[in-house]
Amino acid sequence: MSVVERQEWDVVVIGAGGAGLRAAIEARERGARTAVICKSLFGKAHTVMAEGGIAAAMANANEHDNWQVHFRDTMRGGKFLNQWRMAELHAQEAPDRVWELETWGALFDRTKDGRISQRNFGGHEYPRLAHVGDRTGLELIRTLQQKIVALQQEDKKETGDYESRLKVYQECTVTRVLKDGSRVSGVFAYERETGRFFVLEAPSVVIATGGIGKSFKVTSNSWEYTGDGHALALLAGAPLLNMEFVQFHPTGMVWPPSVKGILVTESVRGDGGVLRNSEGKRFMFDYIPDVFKEKYAESEEEGDRWYEDPDNNRRPPELLPRDEVARAINSEVKAGRGSPHGGVFLDVSTRMPADVIRRRLPSMYHQFKELADVDITAEAMEVGPTCHYVMGGIAVESETAAARGVPGLFAAGEVAGGMHGSNRLGGNSLSDLLVFGRRAGWHAAEHAAARAFERPEVSDLEIDTAAAEALRPFSAEGPPGAEDEGRPPENPYTLHQELQQAMNDLVGIIRREAEMERALEKLADLRVRARRAGVEGHRQFNPGWHLALDLRNMLLVSECVARAALERTESRGGHTREDHPTMDRRWRNINLLCRLADPTGGLAATDPERGQIDLARETTDPVRQDLLALFDKEELVKYLAEEELYQ
Ligand code: FAD
Repeated sequence: MSVVERQEWDVVVIGAGGAGLRAAIEARERGARTAVICKSLFGKAHTVMAEGGIAAAMANANEHDNWQVHFRDTMRGGKFLNQWRMAELHAQEAPDRVWELETWGALFDRTKDGRISQRNFGGHEYPRLAHVGDRTGLELIRTLQQKIVALQQEDKKETGDYESRLKVYQECTVTRVLKDGSRVSGVFAYERETGRFFVLEAPSVVIATGGIGKSFKVTSNSWEYTGDGHALALLAGAPLLNMEFVQFHPTGMVWPPSVKGILVTESVRGDGGVLRNSEGKRFMFDYIPDVFKEKYAESEEEGDRWYEDPDNNRRPPELLPRDEVARAINSEVKAGRGSPHGGVFLDVSTRMPADVIRRRLPSMYHQFKELADVDITAEAMEVGPTCHYVMGGIAVESETAAARGVPGLFAAGEVAGGMHGSNRLGGNSLSDLLVFGRRAGWHAAEHAAARAFERPEVSDLEIDTAAAEALRPFSAEGPPGAEDEGRPPENPYTLHQELQQAMNDLVGIIRREAEMERALEKLADLRVRARRAGVEGHRQFNPGWHLALDLRNMLLVSECVARAALERTESRGGHTREDHPTMDRRWRNINLLCRLADPTGGLAATDPERGQIDLARETTDPVRQDLLALFDKEELVKYLAEEELYQ
């Protein structure tokens, strides 16, 4: 039996990005003793990297903006597959969450009359992104951390201990959500520096672990994005929703190779940057899809006038939703009209004075100067699509952020599905983190309070099983009786590279049936080999070991993406099928749910080729009538299924 330290909390939040911190603040303010656990350093969550801003209909830059317009834009961006109640709550509550941040000390850029400045972004009808230059995520995290410290200081005054009600465990990775019967009972984790195992017991666990980008080769995501939360939820028995929808941001760096994929913020286009091909043509005018024709300018002159007079002109097509722009760039490169390094040109240098570029886009200026030796005030950038965000995620209840089917489990932020439908609009993630982070913390605290006298228990057996799973890479060889019994260990780095390459090439921005079938075969092969992912040395800071453990998560999540992408025979938002190139109204109200094939939480180790995931279809709830009434009938005809229109 493993001797593992246990600590008791009311709420455990996994992840210290925007969603996790907002959840933790809420839970603590509602009286729950709350632990936050994160695998990176406190403050180094993905949220820090967010650049452009937080979308909220505050109407500071255009008085016509309101939550209804924001809701409409979000539904259009998601091609009507959004969990509409989430989109409604998000649009209604985002302004309060931004103002609240300001009262906690966030310093946003201002309009001339002193209000919070709001900038344009793709798919948003009005300037809507509250921002701090192009470093908004940094300010968001700084503010939330400051709030946490303030709460800890209050606790010190009252109890003599800063960490009595709110404690952060940094550089610690959760490998399992633990359960007592069907109920959540805590988490099993290891400390990255020492390799020490420990358990945090709690009746409520909030998963806020972000995305999955590290399963793809070219990505804007950082090392933590290995789909851990998605996998933890699956293993705990919760389903994942619509995992086929992965956002490829249109503008990542393409050169030099060492920085390929790093994000070039959409603010560059929001502030006037234009896309050109190798012939110098502003090609986006050729790629405006029918559903958006009425909203976008037909000529460069009209598009340019919009920046000064948005009420009397239509927006330029560079500001179409991300999926449209990414596909257009892909097509231009494929047609031989790309830039020297396989992207297209993004130019602000001819659109704004150098000092304005340096002031409005300071990070982009430095990023290109330092990483590519390109001065964006004088020359165009080269950009191309990069895997950026996952719309699919843990299936949650809209109001409470409760994960479906597992009492005590909650999810918020990028790891949760539903809110963004098939495609997220820029800026809608940071607001999502705050709106649903708060809701998750609130309901997790309530759930824990209701179980104060009948706390779930963590059994020794479960701890032993989790410990044995985590230690397996140190004695990795094929299991007894299996075909690969006694075969030597596999290198986790090699497995990871092969996985990334397969997902990039076979389940990437443009998908084909035969390639996805090959991807599933490759995943089966990797799954068998990953059972032998082995490492040398000790548990003290051992990155190879950490990666070997992360591989389980990436393989699970990649299988969900590939299976769901193969199943959905249409193109919608972040899912583009070359063999089914149009959006099909019959798929409008269909969700795809992935569940672990082995409901006991094991990993079907005896027959890894069978796959680990079961896929099921589910019909979505009809959109409420008063929300449908916000759209023109002609527009609804483009999206809704026949029977929905009839109703
Ligand atoms: P994160 O901020 O990523 O936090 C995840 C946390 O989970 C981390 O603390 C991590 O250490 C922890 N974690 C993960 N796995 C484990 C584990 N197993 N155990 C313990 N801890 C774990 N969105 C916008 O709305 N506006 C923007 O301008 C914008 N710009 C962006 C720019 C870039 C370069 C990128 C990459 C994304 C951008 N996005 C933007 C998207 C947005 O930043 C993310 O979707 C969002 O920050 C995700 O926040 P989160 O709280 O869900 O997760």
